[in-house]
Amino acid sequence: MKCYVCAKEGRDTDAVAVCIVCGMGLCMDHAIREENDVWEGGYPFPAKKIKQRLPRILCPECSLALKGDG
Ligand SMILES: [Zn+2]
Ligand SMILES: [Zn+2]
Repeated sequence: MKCYVCAKEGRDTDAVAVCIVCGMGLCMDHAIREENDVWEGGYPFPAKKIKQRLPRILCPECSLALKGDG
């Protein structure tokens, strides 16, 4: 898989991760790794079963969308 963001810019970079929200491939430059205390909405796992922080990989677009305006 190739990095979707790079592909849009005409580059051909191998993806090292996948955005858990939209599923696009991401290179090291574009993969955003975040650790959140609480999972909202129960996606992709039921939040009640999670007792520790989960890392998650997001693309820049989804990271922005999930953070909102703060
Ligand atoms: Zn990229
Ligand atoms: Zn995404």
